[in-house]
Amino acid sequence: MRIGIVSDVHSNLPALEAVLAALGDVDALWHLGDVVGYGPHPDEVVARLAERGAIGVMGNHDAAALGGAEVEYFNTAAQQAIAWTQRRMSAVTRAWLAELPERREEGGATLVHGSPREPIWEYVWSSSIADLSFDAFATSWCLHGHTHVPVAWVLGRRGPELRRPAPGETVRLDEGRLLVNPGSVGQPRDGDPRASALILDSELGTLTWLRVPYAIAEVQAAIKAAGLPRSLGDRLDRGR
Ligand code: ZN
Repeated sequence: MRIGIVSDVHSNLPALEAVLAALGDVDALWHLGDVVGYGPHPDEVVARLAERGAIGVMGNHDAAALGGAEVEYFNTAAQQAIAWTQRRMSAVTRAWLAELPERREEGGATLVHGSPREPIWEYVWSSSIADLSFDAFATSWCLHGHTHVPVAWVLGRRGPELRRPAPGETVRLDEGRLLVNPGSVGQPRDGDPRASALILDSELGTLTWLRVPYAIAEVQAAIKAAGLPRSLGDRLDRGR
């Protein structure tokens, strides 16, 4: 089976479409939350994921869009985008988001948005948090998003070892216990503005990262037309 894995799409339809085209004919699609927030296409992105039968988990922006208290911790632009999303999104989108669990197990992997300790909120930014995270899931590997940076932590004898996979680079599932981030589709933050995603080949036992260019100007125009903060469009050019 080939499974496409996406995270932090953030209502960016052109980025999602480009990634789906690059993934091609996959057998399944998994997402790691933050489907909405920041971007101008909440209904379109949810409709596209639903149409592809994507399964996944809830992110902090999804929870905030549903009225959760998470929004208090957001910066001003993110708060404005959540308020806009709440006004704009359809009842169908709301119901689809509300069904998302905080964590799930699929095909031998644990799926969360933040970390397996704090699925909605915790960022896996450091080797100490990665180390604690390995104690918080029972499967041999775990997929997470939230930082918007593509990385893999491989648990070795001396603790978690950080990999920063380049596009096309592969990590093998039998290298050890893994904590894996596909990077962000809709708002990358590693300095590369291209959409990031991951392909799992369950027969080969491999995870391969990909980066896909998309029409950033199109999203920026939609952000402007929607009256969303301009900074949310500007940062897409920088991949920050
Ligand atoms: Zn996010």
